Amino acid sequence: MHKVAVYPGTFDPITNGHLDIINRGLEIFDSVIVAVLENAKKKPLFSAEERVEMIRNSVDRRTEVGSFSGLLVDYMKKKNTRFELRGMRAMSDFDYEFQMSIANKKLWPEMETVFIMTDQKYLYLNSSLVKELARLGADISEFVPKNVETVLKKKLQ
Ligand code: ADP
Repeated sequence: MHKVAVYPGTFDPITNGHLDIINRGLEIFDSVIVAVLENAKKKPLFSAEERVEMIRNSVDRRTEVGSFSGLLVDYMKKKNTRFELRGMRAMSDFDYEFQMSIANKKLWPEMETVFIMTDQKYLYLNSSLVKELARLGADISEFVPKNVETVLKKKLQ
């Protein structure tokens, strides 16, 4: 059976930490759907379209990229999969992820969330840090793919 996982997030913008989770997810699942959350409370720097575009330019053919608003469980049902993929960095991630997966299970008991632990290289990497470093003019080439570096620099000009 073809196993698909949805990897939801804000991805504002996608980082090498996210890409590591996608690539490792592809060792478990046959394909991954990266799902950009549109109406994030986080007030993203990039529009959903821009975030989708940057992800598309960073992944291979086994990865589909889309966006959604509203409930993740509804999006997953539409995509015909009950598997969610998430990354886990520190204890601080754990608390939030634990709450979310319990809430999702209440909404849809068949849903399963698969967590992949971050590679220690990416332990402290997140989108906010990348944006802050870029704003300050630091070199971010080891944190994001080339296309993201270019788009981010342009955005902050
Ligand atoms: P969200 O707003 O849903 O947290 P993010 O874009 O910040 O969206 O993250 C999406 C997913 O990717 C989350 O599961 C998060 O834990 C994971 N993630 C983000 N950065 C990393 C990283 N450096 N290493 C591993 N997982 C990560």
